Amino acid sequence: MTVLKVLKSVYLNKDPLSLVHFLTNRCNARCSFCFIDFDNPLTFKNELTLEEIDKVTKKLPKSLININFTGGEPFAHKNINEVAKLYFKNTDINSIFITSNGSLPDRMINFCKEITNKFPDKKLFFSLSIDSFEEEHNKIRKVKDIFKSCINVFHELRKISPNIQTNIAITVSHENHSRVIDLYDFLKNKYGVNSFSAILAREEGVYKIPEMSKKKILKAYHDLTQKIKNDLTKMSKEYGYKNSLQAKVMNEKNKIVYDQIYSTSIKNEFISNCFAGSLFGVIQANGDISPCEILDDKFGNLREFDYDFTKLWSKNSRKGFCKKIKNNKCFCTYECAWTFNILGNKKYHFDLLKGITKN
Ligand code: SF4
Ligand code: SF4
Repeated sequence: MTVLKVLKSVYLNKDPLSLVHFLTNRCNARCSFCFIDFDNPLTFKNELTLEEIDKVTKKLPKSLININFTGGEPFAHKNINEVAKLYFKNTDINSIFITSNGSLPDRMINFCKEITNKFPDKKLFFSLSIDSFEEEHNKIRKVKDIFKSCINVFHELRKISPNIQTNIAITVSHENHSRVIDLYDFLKNKYGVNSFSAILAREEGVYKIPEMSKKKILKAYHDLTQKIKNDLTKMSKEYGYKNSLQAKVMNEKNKIVYDQIYSTSIKNEFISNCFAGSLFGVIQANGDISPCEILDDKFGNLREFDYDFTKLWSKNSRKGFCKKIKNNKCFCTYECAWTFNILGNKKYHFDLLKGITKN
């Protein structure tokens, strides 16, 4: 069913397969590279209520297979359990992917128990952020013991159900680029972490990368992603997301994404079409619908469209946006966008299929 939906969207109608939902802009951490303007009180205004999310989820398109919960810190949203239940109850999605700083373990464990109990066939994927060794990580994130908490939930959540997969996401930034390889080995050897992803820090919002660090960050990103790719190939049975076709696709897709993000950055040029505003989109915490989280464009607010995403999504301005980014050869290193650039572009499908069947 999922495979059919993906093929239909990719080859026929470009209907959305996944949405990123910023549940909240609130966060208990204060990372130095965060793009959220925590000093602006408007940042936290007008979040969709649970009743509104209920209405939204009832009218989402059937093409969707997944929702990404992000933020802020998604677990800083006090009703995250209820929001996940609404998505699984009111839509046909089969998974929720959650990015988290891992600092609220009780809420996370409670969430996993409740959701897997109520929806035993659905999948939960967690991407947990660790960017440095213990002391420094706690300092960068400005949360006491966040490192230990993150390692603990990495292991504990998996024990709750085989349908829960966790990985550690290392964001390569100007603060950690010289140590990411050591960090990778340390997490693998000392804490038994066997599933990683790499994220390239982006200039966005209030975060700017010091010019002198840019080349060094890219080199570190390249080295780290090669290591992750090699380990994935060598140990695919026990390493990385596993146990399902969706997980295998994710692994193989990540390998291609890493290379394309590196090439895009080093050449600073367009490589292939972006499907923001077609195969995927973004629901902001206040109900604004945007094509991606990088550009300021927005298609409208769900509140102005009677919470009907499909009505909003069929606007001519959305179609015009898709034409514009294609004609202008828009490019960036946003990982979510690259996921759909790979899945939605025939030129990558042979390599994707080859990797999936081999591993
Ligand atoms: S954990 Fe994420 S949302 Fe929170 S401050 Fe850090 S980067 Fe920003
Ligand atoms: S290439 Fe990047 S900035 Fe441009 S539309 Fe896609 S995700 Fe947004």
